Amino acid sequence: MNDCIFCKIIAGEIPSAKVYEDDEIVIFKDISPVAKIHLLCVPKEHFAYLSEMNAARADLLGRTLEKIGKMKDRLGLSEGYRLVINQGENAGQTVHHLHIHILGGEPLPWGK
Ligand SMILES: [Zn+2]
Repeated sequence: MNDCIFCKIIAGEIPSAKVYEDDEIVIFKDISPVAKIHLLCVPKEHFAYLSEMNAARADLLGRTLEKIGKMKDRLGLSEGYRLVINQGENAGQTVHHLHIHILGGEPLPWGK
């Protein structure tokens, strides 16, 4: 997607504070953090919605959750964290490339 900011970050056309990258996901710091630690985990494949899931994307998301869980300590999330996937207008999804917000580093109020 030519005009997708996350695809541009993945392609290295826009700088980001990357904390992890492999062949299928990238994790970087959110530019407008709402928690002490606020990371965005973005699959490199461009799709926007869970309604666009298929078996391959389900496998990808499953592996992604496994990676986040196994990396929690090195990401500074030993004391707990929250994952958020915003979907659509009412949820405030501003970038239409599926991404997982990773929030932690401090006690999180519900609904943050
Ligand atoms: Zn994209």
